[in-house]
Amino acid sequence: MRADGTIDECIFCKIVRGEIPAQKVYEDELVLAFNDIKAQAPLHVLVVPKVHIESLDEATAEHCTTLGRMLGVAPRIARENGSPDGFRAIINNGRIGRQDVMHVHLHVVGGHDRLGPMLSRA
Ligand code: AMP
Ligand code: ZN
Repeated sequence: MRADGTIDECIFCKIVRGEIPAQKVYEDELVLAFNDIKAQAPLHVLVVPKVHIESLDEATAEHCTTLGRMLGVAPRIARENGSPDGFRAIINNGRIGRQDVMHVHLHVVGGHDRLGPMLSRA
């Protein structure tokens, strides 16, 4: 862990440090938001904490303000990026949640009327 709370090898920490490019849409002292590289909808933004938190399982009481900020900025991000009439906020967590990138992130998805049900119905 570096002094800034990021770790060397994490892809989202590298984006936070500016070492790999991202299309940033929002930033404050706690969180950074950028377009998902494989957008699944016209609006598909990832909101990440600026410090490395692997998953919600590793989050502690100290992280509550940051986790709250991630949710709190989502409506503004949606409004300002083409989804003023609602959006979906998703956190895939751990193995069962099919989390691929092990740095907590909130997917903010929207921009069209065809998101469908939250889970496919078997
Ligand atoms: P998850 O399955 O919830 O862990 O989602 C990880 C997301 O990160 C996927 O939607 C990827 O498309 C996205 N992603 C991976 N690498 C990058 C990157 N370098 N820039 C932007 N999005 C990325
Ligand atoms: Zn990280």
